[in-house]
Amino acid sequence: MDTEALYRAAHLLKKTQHAVALTGAGVSVESGIPPFRGRGGLWERYDPEKVASLRGFRRDPGAFWEFAQTLMGPMEAQPNPGHEALACLEERGLLQAVLTQNIDGLHQKAGSQKVLELHGSLEQVYCLHCGLEFSWSEALKIMADKGQCQDCASPYLKPDIVFFGEALPEDVLQAAFWEARNCEVFLVIGSSLEVYPVAQLPAVARDEGAKTILINRDRVFGEREFDVILRGNAKTILPRLLELWES
Ligand code: NAD
Ligand code: ZN
Repeated sequence: MDTEALYRAAHLLKKTQHAVALTGAGVSVESGIPPFRGRGGLWERYDPEKVASLRGFRRDPGAFWEFAQTLMGPMEAQPNPGHEALACLEERGLLQAVLTQNIDGLHQKAGSQKVLELHGSLEQVYCLHCGLEFSWSEALKIMADKGQCQDCASPYLKPDIVFFGEALPEDVLQAAFWEARNCEVFLVIGSSLEVYPVAQLPAVARDEGAKTILINRDRVFGEREFDVILRGNAKTILPRLLELWES
């Protein structure tokens, strides 16, 4: 770990009471949920067009559900020390919000209160035909068993997440841009910053004068714009950062 960079990041956090974090799949990797991109990412094995786009879903909802089993055996996944450190920073009054691209609910499980889920969440599933609602675990069972809605026999049970080709929920997106514009330190953790419009958020924060910190395992596009780069695993770096911030 780059200790000097870690001290610089802690120093930036000590000078503010208004930090905001943007998290991506990387923060949940150490909870056993694979990311999409980068080493070991799911796109090495799956075709996103088939399993994660609206068009693909309309063509073959079963393919999505098969993929979903791989992604989310993790409904049993537990938050890791990275999620916990973020919850702790919020509780201590430093972190004002977590903006997340994740759909796994692990920030909330770790105790984060203000979480903006930009790509929705797997918690709620509904039938596109009749609107009947299911929990994630109910839907997984139904799709593995009969493969259709119990009321109307439609095969289109869809979780409340944003597929490729779908718009982000406008209210959440606006709230996320507001958070980016109004913070003093903006942290990005475990995101490849390849998905728009979320990838714009660091620049939005920077334009309003915020300092930016990147915590990521691999290099990401545009990382040279960040004030501090902490390369490595979120699970290790975030608790160390919390410790230094407290000391
Ligand atoms: P991504 O998969 O595109 O990129 C993940 C990034 O995390 C990579 O740059 C990688 O270097 C980094 N990373 C991997 N392990 C890490 C670790 N232990 N610590 C720190 N960084 C690590 O992720 P994204 O930018 O969030 O975009 C992918 C989209 O996929 C999102 O829209 C999200 O909805 C969805 N997704 C969500 C989950 C989840 O909910 N856990 C999992 C996979 C994909
Ligand atoms: Zn139905």
